[in-house]
Amino acid sequence: MKRVYRAATLLQVAHARNVLLTAGIRCELRNQYLAGALGDLPMMETWPQLLVEDADEQYALSVLARAARATTGPAWTCPVCGERLEPQFTSCWRCGAEAPPA
Ligand SMILES: [Zn+2]
Repeated sequence: MKRVYRAATLLQVAHARNVLLTAGIRCELRNQYLAGALGDLPMMETWPQLLVEDADEQYALSVLARAARATTGPAWTCPVCGERLEPQFTSCWRCGAEAPPA
């Protein structure tokens, strides 16, 4: 298993978990109840974190990176092929064209 995400709050980790599950990536949430229980560990080691199968690590990281950049703006239309795209996509999934600048 590889750790792909951790954060100080369970809310952030739960959100990231939803992002991965939506992308079809199985992940495991660890340290959900551990915070504060292990006083000898560095604080970040006790944060809730997400782990994925080794083979999914790169895909999971790219999905999370894309989600982190996601805007809450409106859907956009590809200037090349006319495909309608959700705002979290920065390029057209159909033809690869970049999203026009906002
Ligand atoms: Zn396109």
